Amino acid sequence: MTTTDNHFYDLVVVGGGQAGCAVALTAAATGRTVAVVESRPGGPGGASVHETDLPAAVCRETAALLRAIRHAGECAVVVPDQPEPDFAGLARRRMARVAAAAADMGRRLEAACVKVFNGRGYLAAADTVMVLDCETGDDIASLRGRTVVIATGSSPAPPVWFQPDGRHLLTLPQVYALRRWLKSALIIGGGPDACEVASFLALSGTSVNIGFPQAVLLPQAGDDMSRHLATAFQREGLSLAASATATGCEAVDGVCTTTLSLADSEELIRTEAVIWAGPKRAVTDNLGLRKLGIATDDASGAIETDACGRTAAPTVYAVGACADPECTALEARLRGEWLAANLAGERAPFPTPRNLIRALATEPPVAWVGLTPAEAQAACPGAVTACIPLPDNLNQPASASGLAAIVGDAATGEILGAQAIGAQAAAFVSALSIARQFEYGVADLAGLIPADPAISIPLASTARAWVTAASGHR
Ligand SMILES: Cc1cc2nc3c(=O)[nH]c(=O)nc-3n(C[C@H](O)[C@H](O)[C@H](O)COP(=O)(O)OP(=O)(O)OC[C@H]3O[C@@H](n4cnc5c(N)ncnc54)[C@H](O)[C@@H]3O)c2cc1C
Repeated sequence: MTTTDNHFYDLVVVGGGQAGCAVALTAAATGRTVAVVESRPGGPGGASVHETDLPAAVCRETAALLRAIRHAGECAVVVPDQPEPDFAGLARRRMARVAAAAADMGRRLEAACVKVFNGRGYLAAADTVMVLDCETGDDIASLRGRTVVIATGSSPAPPVWFQPDGRHLLTLPQVYALRRWLKSALIIGGGPDACEVASFLALSGTSVNIGFPQAVLLPQAGDDMSRHLATAFQREGLSLAASATATGCEAVDGVCTTTLSLADSEELIRTEAVIWAGPKRAVTDNLGLRKLGIATDDASGAIETDACGRTAAPTVYAVGACADPECTALEARLRGEWLAANLAGERAPFPTPRNLIRALATEPPVAWVGLTPAEAQAACPGAVTACIPLPDNLNQPASASGLAAIVGDAATGEILGAQAIGAQAAAFVSALSIARQFEYGVADLAGLIPADPAISIPLASTARAWVTAASGHR
């Protein structure tokens, strides 16, 4: 039975994650009538609230405390027993935080007069979204909209031989929902998500292997940070296999045997769990796109759009991870706000990752913004990089440090990128990101008056090293 919702909305949004909620709230704030269709029974918020970022953040808080307790001896504090996480308690804490965040998003939508429908949405026509009851499979509402926005997100896309079972073969959301400790795990993937989950598990006492197809771990952060992180991981006992492709896995009697194909050999890795942290796929099946002529990419499932987020059907737009499966939660939110502004007639520029920093909760933390040294070299003949040790605090000897790098154009002094690893990594890179947004050059930073000495002093030192390197380059 179809209950027709009699309203004609300015905007109907399918998917209530970061992108969908951002579109809805921004459009509602300018007086538009908006409906959001969300299939998750737990309410809006999307993957980042229910499955990835928030659950991961809760796990990281526990891991950070474990780390602090393990290093207590360095601060002359005696901790009698080896600390270990209480996974059942962690699960309760995580569920409470997720429920609170989803409820908060629900309240924000309600306060903005956005009508939320719980069910699975699909397009019956370019201006009509049907809402299907996920349990009964019945259509429960038919919503008409001047504009329809698809914001259905992305999900892990393991190969066919990897069938997640929630116990031994796990996706990242399943790891962050675990209620038990893992003795050992192989993580497949070497990107940001893989490095973060590796750190969390290692701090929890799990014996961690990481196998990744790239030549280096975390190539996104640039070679220096990547090497530094790999060394730090190996020092903590994590085992890394670069240029390794997992080709199969068998779980028998609680032991997973994974075949890793290396350059000229094969290796069998035996662990209690195998975790898929590889590429994601856009959630675009069963949305009724094909009959409206809306194309998706075969490999990633991503909905094809023009530069304004518009699909081949003129009234239908797509935004967030369903159009770019690897986008971060922050990118999804900013793109949602951008789309709503554009639909309101503003010519807002697309939020590029140019000034968006990535800050990973790895151990040690890593952060970066803009171009890596190699990307800058390829894009700009005058690219120069200066890299210096980054102490955790001003009293720490440089030998026990992380690293900080600034990439700049020797011809113009423009900041092209920055990378850092260590406790102050995010703060260092944030300062560089702000400097870029205000169009400061590297030389401007060399004489910086310390606002927060822990950041400003390394920032000024790196900038001075860059000025020296750049003057030799000219
Ligand atoms: C495994 C994994 C790990 C990640 N780790 C990180 C990280 O560490 N840091 C980071 O910044 N980002 C991370 N991300 C990315 C982040 O989760 C996404 O960028 C962000 O959630 C994208 O927002 P979105 O609104 O586009 O999609 P989502 O947040 O996925 O929201 C889409 C919503 O649409 C709903 N939906 C889907 N189909 C329908 C339908 N037919 N009808 C109604 N509702 C529907 C879903 O239930 C969901 O709530 C990760 C993503 C994944 C998959």
